Amino acid sequence: MPSDPFADVLAANAAYASRFELADLEARAAKGLGVLTCMDSRIDPLAMLGLAPGDAKILRNAGARVTDDVLRTLVLATHLLGVERVMVVAHTNCRMAAESEQDVHDEIRAAGGPDTRSITFLTTADQEAALRADVQRARSSPYLGRVTGGGVHSDLGTGRLARIC
Ligand SMILES: [Zn+2]
Repeated sequence: MPSDPFADVLAANAAYASRFELADLEARAAKGLGVLTCMDSRIDPLAMLGLAPGDAKILRNAGARVTDDVLRTLVLATHLLGVERVMVVAHTNCRMAAESEQDVHDEIRAAGGPDTRSITFLTTADQEAALRADVQRARSSPYLGRVTGGGVHSDLGTGRLARIC
């Protein structure tokens, strides 16, 4: 069997577990906060918002889009896990806002991948409009009740957030 492709992170986990101190955290979000942000690996959601483990429910997907699965998760987070406010965080240089659906399909093909045209990647040519619409989608969901929604834009060059809606 080839060496474990996860060996590095599992080794890091052994060290993490040896000094683990979070066993008593509650499952409820201590700050009543849900954060939806992009999967972009340059974003550190906890540090960006001054949070610690236990403070917030963190949701991520490509482009920080409010999808059906995000809504599904937020219904659980708001009614069962203490979330009262949801912040959607878009960011600069997001590929989902820089390219068209066709661009992404073409690039995946060019990279040796399959024909992905049956998948919608939720790219947008107007990131701010998409953010506003996504926040409104969460705000208006009949399943989310009185949750407060807000949208911000993260500048990955400075780390600063700007309130959009
Ligand atoms: Zn992104």
